[in-house]
Amino acid sequence: MPQFDYDLFVIGAGSGGVRASRVAAAFGARVAIAEHYRVGGTCVIRGCVPKKLLVYASHFHEDFEDASGYGWTVSGSSFSWPILIANKNREIARLEGIYSKLLENSKVTVHRGRASLIDTHTVKVGDRQVTADSILVATGGWPNLPKIPGIEHCITSNEAFELAVQPGRVLIVGGGYIAVEFAGIFRGLGSEVTVSYRGDQILRGFDEDVRAHLSREIGKKGIDIELRSNVRGVEKLPDGTLRATILNGQAERTIDCDAVMYATGRRPATKGLGLEEAGVRLDDDGGVVVDEYGRSSVPGIFAVGDVTNRIALTPVAIREGLGVATTLFGGGAPVRIDHNDVPSAVFSQPPVGTVGMTEAQAIASCDQVEIYQADFRPMKATLSGRDERTMMKLIVDAKSQRVLGAHMVGGDAPEIIQGIGIAVKAGLTKQQFDATVGIHPTAAEELVTMREKRSVSRAAT
Ligand code: NDP
Repeated sequence: MPQFDYDLFVIGAGSGGVRASRVAAAFGARVAIAEHYRVGGTCVIRGCVPKKLLVYASHFHEDFEDASGYGWTVSGSSFSWPILIANKNREIARLEGIYSKLLENSKVTVHRGRASLIDTHTVKVGDRQVTADSILVATGGWPNLPKIPGIEHCITSNEAFELAVQPGRVLIVGGGYIAVEFAGIFRGLGSEVTVSYRGDQILRGFDEDVRAHLSREIGKKGIDIELRSNVRGVEKLPDGTLRATILNGQAERTIDCDAVMYATGRRPATKGLGLEEAGVRLDDDGGVVVDEYGRSSVPGIFAVGDVTNRIALTPVAIREGLGVATTLFGGGAPVRIDHNDVPSAVFSQPPVGTVGMTEAQAIASCDQVEIYQADFRPMKATLSGRDERTMMKLIVDAKSQRVLGAHMVGGDAPEIIQGIGIAVKAGLTKQQFDATVGIHPTAAEELVTMREKRSVSRAAT
């Protein structure tokens, strides 16, 4: 008789948890997974996937405008938020069904309900207790809201995906991925959008030129970005209007709007899981501290994805899930996940694609850095007349000539940088980029034809 009910019990059926359970089951392990909400997790249910659908929807407005320069007359266009949300919900339900079917076909037992640890080998789901040799925590993250007066009137991206009515005026608080992406969505769909960010420039941590370029471009679309500003409180007026008080330096003013959306980061979802009681070490944000193999401080308890508070990206969680399952049941050497040179994108409008080091990071790690940069009007904008510019930047170590980073703001940047990510990950040099023939006419050909450089030495900075 096996000592435990399962070989692996996974808590959380999101990207990381589902991948880990399927891979473990394919290795012959007896696997169960618990989910208290919907199978698919943040990415599928209220993150990447619905967000991208909304981004598509919001771009038509400009596409219709741009069409006229190409000889088209587009008349009578109108937009229905309820239709968009209903269609999006249908697609999400379809994907959720596919995820559930994948688990079923993999012979993974799904426990519906909130799971918590009783001890290092026992999990409680609802009123059931099950035992497992190993436990994988893959519970993701949850929006983090500061405690300001009136926060109960505000929404997060979770609710933004489900609003019954499109807000005409939206205040978005934060300057990260979610803030910038939703600013573009609401603006593209016709809402008035203000972004309130506490820092000097949006997208902290990204290359400075990316930040400045994107800020200019989204400003041109009529998004009001209030830098160095803090929302002090939100009041609900009798007619339902939300009045936010914003402190900008010494000046205080109010903004009236229909929705205040907080996009002020996400925290690992570890509350109530019984992890600390089981001896699992958490970091200051509540994230499960793990090593490069996903092992927590307690033998037999692992964690992957956003709950580990490392890189909160779906493809990273999927890799980590694969790694833990292969380490546990693959019968070979433990699998370590490489978190270097992870490409990422911000689905802003225009979008951002980035891989590798920023200029500042490169200067901090090399004596001499060469910067190749292009800023141009995309070809499509010639006939459309749209005032839009694309920015590309390669960061090269002067000594080895290795391309350390590639950054782009402009149409198709995520698609382009995904390809360039292979070259950066492979450690290719600028000469190897230059030896590659461009595809004409594309924006991406700039990345293999940039010849003018700017040199920056660490000593001079
Ligand atoms: P981010 O960490 O990207 O941004 C949070 C923003 O909120 C920052 O601008 C931060 O300011 C600000 N902020 C934090 N706390 C406060 C506060 N108390 N008051 C005012 N402002 C505050 O988080 P997001 O919520 O945008 O996204 C969470 C994560 O999800 C991302 O980091 C990313 O990993 C992932 N994600 C990825 C996407 C993609 O791949 N396209 C899309 C969406 C999310 P400051 O900079 O000063 O700290």
